[in-house]
Amino acid sequence: MTIKLTCSDYGFECGFVINGEKSLTLIQNLRDHFENEHGIDYSVDAVIQMIVNMGHSRDSIRDK
Ligand SMILES: [Zn+2]
Repeated sequence: MTIKLTCSDYGFECGFVINGEKSLTLIQNLRDHFENEHGIDYSVDAVIQMIVNMGHSRDSIRDK
């Protein structure tokens, strides 16, 4: 299952979007973007929680 992660959905004025298979790797990419572009060092768990809050189940984000 693919997911689209849009940086602006997480409170930034930013056009960054990543699409891909829902996985920890994709979440790591978003986390790295938050750190590199916005200087915010979220934990992977924090980013997972944000995505869960957007209506995705936590189990669906685990790497297979
Ligand atoms: Zn951004």
